[in-house]
Amino acid sequence: MLPDAADGLGPRAADPWRSHPARILRITPEVPGVRTYDLEFTDPRVRAAYRFAAGQFNMLYLPGIGEAAISISSDAATPALLAHTVRAVGNVTDALARLEPGDEILLRGPFGRPWPAERLRGRHVVVVGGGLGLASQRTAIYEFARHRDRYAGVTVLHGAKLPAGLFYTAEYAAWRAAGIDVRPVVDEGDASWSGHVGLVTDLFAGLTLDPANAAVICCGPDPMMNAVARAAAGVGIAGHDVFVSLERNMACAVRHCGLCQFGPHFVCQDGPVFAYDSIAEFLAVPHL
Ligand SMILES: Cc1cc2nc3c(=O)[nH]c(=O)nc-3n(C[C@H](O)[C@H](O)[C@H](O)COP(=O)(O)OP(=O)(O)OC[C@H]3O[C@@H](n4cnc5c(N)ncnc54)[C@H](O)[C@@H]3O)c2cc1C
Repeated sequence: MLPDAADGLGPRAADPWRSHPARILRITPEVPGVRTYDLEFTDPRVRAAYRFAAGQFNMLYLPGIGEAAISISSDAATPALLAHTVRAVGNVTDALARLEPGDEILLRGPFGRPWPAERLRGRHVVVVGGGLGLASQRTAIYEFARHRDRYAGVTVLHGAKLPAGLFYTAEYAAWRAAGIDVRPVVDEGDASWSGHVGLVTDLFAGLTLDPANAAVICCGPDPMMNAVARAAAGVGIAGHDVFVSLERNMACAVRHCGLCQFGPHFVCQDGPVFAYDSIAEFLAVPHL
C-alpha cells in the first residue's frame, strides 16, 4: 500500500546497514540491456516483516563487486515478492546480468521518501516516465489501478527513444482496463509504430484535466524533468504539485557518506522523491 503516515516517509529498514540474502525467482528480459528480477528473501521472517511504499528503493549487494540503488517496481500489496528492473551499466548491474534464477544476492532496504500518497489522492495524477524512470513508478501505477476510484483521473505518459525501448507494454492492457489512460511516445518511430512521435511534454497540451486538482509524478533524466515541470506549468499545474524522483550516485543510503548530496539535500533520505519547487534551483545546475 501507499503509506498514509503523516510524515510521508514510508516504511524503513529495522537495521539499514544489514543486508539479507534474497533468491532470484525469475528474470524477465524487458528491452535489450534491461531485465526485471523477481526476488524473495530467503529468511521467511525477513520476508514476512518487509514492507515498502511506491517510489522507494533497495540497495542490491553483490559481495566482492559492490552495491547499487535500484527502485522497487513490484506491487506493494504483495511485499514478499520484490521486483527490480535494472539496466546493465556498470559493475553491479553487469554482474547482476550474469546471474540466473536460483542465484542469491544480498539486499537491504527499503530506503527513501516515497511518492506522496496523501497529496495525490483525489487528484488527476499524470505519471511521466522517461525510459527506465517508469520502473520507479510501476508500484504507484498498480496502486492507482487497484483504487482507480480514489483519483479524479490517472494518465501515464511513457517516453522512449524508439518503440523497441518501451517496456512493461504487456501490462498496458490491464492498466487501461482499470481506467488508466496510457500514452506511450517515442522520439523516433518505425514501420511498426502508429502512436505519437515526439516528446512526453508534447502530450500535456492535449490532456483533459483541472490543473488545480492535478499532480504530476515524474522520473527520468534531469533535463526531461525540468521540461516536464515547464510543460505542467504551461497547462496550469503548480510546481509544488509536480513531484520528481532523482537518481544520484549513492553508497551508504543512510545519509552518512555524502555521495548523493544535492545542494542541502541528501537524495538517499530526503529523496529520491522531491516536490519540484523545493529543488528546481539545483536541478537547473548541470551535473550537480
Ligand atoms: C534512488 C535510485 C533509484 C534507482 N533505480 C534504478 C532502477 O530502478 N534501475 C536501474 O537500472 N538503475 C537505477 N538506479 C541507478 C543505479 O543505481 C546506477 O546506475 C548505479 O550506478 C548502477 O551501479 P553499477 O555498479 O552497475 O554501475 P557503476 O559501476 O557505478 O557505473 C555507473 C555509471 O558510471 C559509469 N562509470 C563507472 N565507472 C566510471 C569511471 N571510472 N569513470 C567514468 N564513468 C564511470 C558507468 O559507465 C555507468 O554509466 C537508481 C539510482 C537511484 C539513486
